[in-house]
Amino acid sequence: MRWQDAGVRRRQLLERAAALPLAGALAACAGTGPSATRANPPAPGGRMTLADLAGQLRGPLLRPADPHYASARVISNDRYAGVRPHAIARAVVEDDVAACVRFAARSSLPFTVRCGGHSYAGYSTNGGLVCDVRRLDTISLAADRRSVTVGAGVLAIDLITALAAHGLAVPTGSCPTVGISGLALGGGVGFAGRAMGATCDNILAVRIVTADGRVQVADPNTNPDLLWACRGGGGGNFGAVTALTLATHPVSTAAYGFCDFPWSEASAALAAWQGVAPHGPDELYLICALETGSSAPQVRVFGQLLGGGEDDLRAAMAPITAVPGASLSTGSGSYLDVQEIWAGCASESAAACRTIQPSSFAARSAYVARPLGADGATAIVRAIEARQTAGAGSGAVLLDPYGGALNRVAPGATAFVHRDQLYSAQMLAYWGATGQGAAAEEWLDGLADGLRPHTSGQAYQNYIDPGLQGWEQAYYATNLPRLRAIKRRWDPDRVFRFRQGIPPAAA
Ligand SMILES: Cc1cc2nc3c(=O)[nH]c(=O)nc-3n(C[C@H](O)[C@H](O)[C@H](O)COP(=O)(O)OP(=O)(O)OC[C@H]3O[C@@H](n4cnc5c(N)ncnc54)[C@H](O)[C@@H]3O)c2cc1C
Repeated sequence: MRWQDAGVRRRQLLERAAALPLAGALAACAGTGPSATRANPPAPGGRMTLADLAGQLRGPLLRPADPHYASARVISNDRYAGVRPHAIARAVVEDDVAACVRFAARSSLPFTVRCGGHSYAGYSTNGGLVCDVRRLDTISLAADRRSVTVGAGVLAIDLITALAAHGLAVPTGSCPTVGISGLALGGGVGFAGRAMGATCDNILAVRIVTADGRVQVADPNTNPDLLWACRGGGGGNFGAVTALTLATHPVSTAAYGFCDFPWSEASAALAAWQGVAPHGPDELYLICALETGSSAPQVRVFGQLLGGGEDDLRAAMAPITAVPGASLSTGSGSYLDVQEIWAGCASESAAACRTIQPSSFAARSAYVARPLGADGATAIVRAIEARQTAGAGSGAVLLDPYGGALNRVAPGATAFVHRDQLYSAQMLAYWGATGQGAAAEEWLDGLADGLRPHTSGQAYQNYIDPGLQGWEQAYYATNLPRLRAIKRRWDPDRVFRFRQGIPPAAA
């Protein structure tokens, strides 16, 4: 069916570009760069060996010779498929995570925590020790049903499915295999975001292993600074989260729609979309996607109206469907049915839906705070046309609306600062054949440069871009000094360290 095709297509767009590893990039990523060695000295107490660590773990410590090692090191971005950790600890209890952190504090090996493995920049893998929290996957609804406590390794689709059985939801992104930890710690924006806020807005408490190897609770009464930082300060910065308590919201049904336009109307479609999507009722969430297609570029607006009917959705989209040549199809279903469409899972088995489908990609992120004029729209349209003509992989610009609950939170109330933006612009390039990565990067640079005069200077930390100049300001803006102070308090020696990790404030 048409809407299922579209759902799968979005996931394909996000997850399934043809995927031959890019040898050059992999070699460059595999053991070089600032994340490869840590500057912090071993902590008092002497070094530990991996054998010592293995002896402290309840879960397995997978080394390269282990039969499970190959599958354990798979992450979303195939660009980093050549990175081979020394060891992957599959944590099965909180103590396993604490043991890994204590090891990291005493070792010169690089260290990182992994949940869903969807870091765009491959920050949840490295050549040292990876602490994989995926098996911390319990989901426990509170007796009053107003909150849910989840293990740090729960996948978005599992949380959506488990809560939907109770008529509840936590807002997540649309990708089924994104992990709750990376998603929530860096923000978390998806189809329910304008109604329920970002995932990070719904964090009520976390359990987190800090750099000293101790488990801390962070909630409004205990370590509130750590809670604040975990609400959007970015995964991998302040500790290893082992569990999150999240606010739940009642859900029932949703109407969904897909509106296609002739490519010649792409600028008009974008203009109509930006007049509606960031300003509509909270329940409305409409994405605008401009992307290369099999034979020609495509422009589409798609999304949902929570709790509404198809007629309500059509009425809300009227200024968009007034664009010449617009073709709208709509439907409705239970909240879960509709989220499965966005996840690309509507026609897949549960197992397939939970399986990462790696692809080689790169991305840029920007925010638009004032409506894009004709020049800005033309910059996007021309860039997509150029990528289509070049034929070396695919490309897309995805515009995600803000407003609603996302923008009712003050920029300093959580670490997620992007509260006065109209929408985010995500620029994506995928490729398959070896050697096409450089062309993809070049295309993205040209697109981002063309759009820069029309954007606010902020960027979304969950669309983390290892090449972004001035990333500290772009990701954290006015919240950066407080984040650096919190980093100094909790991790002054940078046990948690990666190339775009928040540096501690100077002493
Ligand atoms: C296909 C795809 C679709 C996406 N769709 C959306 C979307 O709709 N909305 C949206 O907002 N974002 C989306 N994202 C971006 C996503 O939110 C981020 O990439 C997120 O960081 C991924 O989290 P993860 O746990 O899956 O990844 P990981 O790579 O496991 O982790 C990401 C970062 O968090 C750290 N981390 C992981 N677990 C922990 C932990 N327990 N404690 C502390 N740090 C930890 C890692 O070290 C890493 O630095 C998408 C990404 C992809 C690849």
